Amino acid sequence: MAGDERIPAKPEAEQSPRGGPAGSARIAAEPGATLVSVFETSCRRFADRPAYHNLGVTLRFSDLERLSGRLAAYLLDLGLARGDRVALMMPNVLQYPVALFAALRAGLTVVNTNPLYTPRELRHQLIDSGATAIVILENFAHVLAEVIGDTSVRHVITTAVADLAPLPKRTAVNFLVRRIKHMVPPFDLPQAVRWRQALERGATLDFESPPVRPDDIAFLQYTGGTTGTPKGAMLTHANMVANVLQMRAVWGGVFEPGREVVITPLPLYHVFCLTCNCLLFLEQGGLNVLITNPRDIAGFVHDLARWRFSLITGVNTLYAALLAHPRFSRIDFSHLKLGVAGGAALHPRIAGEWRSVTGRELVEGYGLTEASPVVACNPPEGSRVGTVGFALPSTEISVRESGLELSVGEPGELWVRGPQVMRGYWQRPQETAAVLSEDGWLRTGDVAVVEPSGYIRIVDRKKDLINVSGFKVFPNEVESVVAEHPAVLECGCIGVPDARTGQAVRVYVVLRPGAALSTEELIEFCRARLTPYKIPRQVDFRASLPKSQIGKVLRRELEREQRERAGAAAA
Ligand code: AMP
Repeated sequence: MAGDERIPAKPEAEQSPRGGPAGSARIAAEPGATLVSVFETSCRRFADRPAYHNLGVTLRFSDLERLSGRLAAYLLDLGLARGDRVALMMPNVLQYPVALFAALRAGLTVVNTNPLYTPRELRHQLIDSGATAIVILENFAHVLAEVIGDTSVRHVITTAVADLAPLPKRTAVNFLVRRIKHMVPPFDLPQAVRWRQALERGATLDFESPPVRPDDIAFLQYTGGTTGTPKGAMLTHANMVANVLQMRAVWGGVFEPGREVVITPLPLYHVFCLTCNCLLFLEQGGLNVLITNPRDIAGFVHDLARWRFSLITGVNTLYAALLAHPRFSRIDFSHLKLGVAGGAALHPRIAGEWRSVTGRELVEGYGLTEASPVVACNPPEGSRVGTVGFALPSTEISVRESGLELSVGEPGELWVRGPQVMRGYWQRPQETAAVLSEDGWLRTGDVAVVEPSGYIRIVDRKKDLINVSGFKVFPNEVESVVAEHPAVLECGCIGVPDARTGQAVRVYVVLRPGAALSTEELIEFCRARLTPYKIPRQVDFRASLPKSQIGKVLRRELEREQRERAGAAAA
């Protein structure tokens, strides 16, 4: 894969801060680097520094090394061998990073699994990946019990929320979760071993780290991609290390190794926080404060107020919800260096509100699972709202229409080439060939424009384009205008069939608490800001919107609902 040999040895502050449209800056080579070598270096360098915090418990880097070594020894003793797949099914709790680094240190491939999966989704992912082991929070073990018989999973480790807390807190919290809140539905998994038993057994074994190579697959990261069927993107150690070092090249100048406090509200099992929080701050020796349930905005704001945090990552909907909370503006932001938005378009109104409340920029980046994930991001200085900044160092980008490169300023599909681009989809050569060219270009399925200054604007997903009487409407643009209305908390936009215009624009709107807005008022608001064919014809006010695991509004769910409703009406 192009560029693998250009992994850097140290921050690239001396390089151009701009990746530039053609990826003009390069990162230097660090042959042989893997996530395991990065882990080992950081555990030596930052041994006494805090690495993770959750539910009042802090793990230092030395704890992380010791505990993950025990679990790695246990996994190897089960007979698991290099490249075997181990699924991790947990929200943001301390056991996640321990299990993650245990699996990687044992030379295994991690299959990140959304704990909210239904049995159907879990069955598909376990069968497709061929996982033979799973580490799972017991709250979700009943879902596994339903499907395990159809899969190759032979080894199950169950953990309770407070398993890494000291006594008596461990007993109290686990009792509360199981017996008072009834958050652990009964399950029947006779083969399951408890987390603490596995660690105790691991402590009696010698752990010898097997050789791990840069081109070993570190993750099968499942994604719907552009076609919808979940497929495992094969992300190698080299891919992930490259992306960490590319991010460090752009943002590293503002970080102080061993001193940063990073708020991590999005799940670590999603590739955004996996790279930008977990792995980048592994390398930087930072503390990740894990937020287990960011949907509880009041609890989240309460937690935030206790930290002098320097970095926070999130998606647009999460920032909108935080800014709408009455106590958010009272938090001390004096240590904040960088707020980072990614995963979906950041609405300019949210970026503006963030700046006025925190006094800092909310910088936007862009990526996708298939690129480990980051392709482009804004620099800490000179961030431009409405853009995703520049291509990362060692990243080439090309904007194309029917395979032909377009000029600067013209919208077309974004193609990407660089050391962070996946090896392909697991056991799906046809789907791989559809998105990855032989010379290493990844077709993102996203429409983008590169401005003459080099800043990149993501217009939208190609497949979400709405065709109104032959005119193109990008839902992102409509959503960003609707979101400017002061009464709107969040919104989603889709195209619906229309007898006259082919498709028409329909928006779904959630209002801020206590706010009032009529369809006519919203349409009037849009009329002043959008050309007529882009103005929503249909408005649906709702209490909430369907969202992905990280809080992206799920347009495909809105489309499905709409199809069902239309089908029912026709019947
Ligand atoms: P995933 O692979 O689930 O992380 O989703 C990646 C997709 O999210 C990309 O292909 C884009 O469609 C979208 N995306 C990510 N970042 C942005 C952004 N800053 N603006 C607009 N869309 C984004």
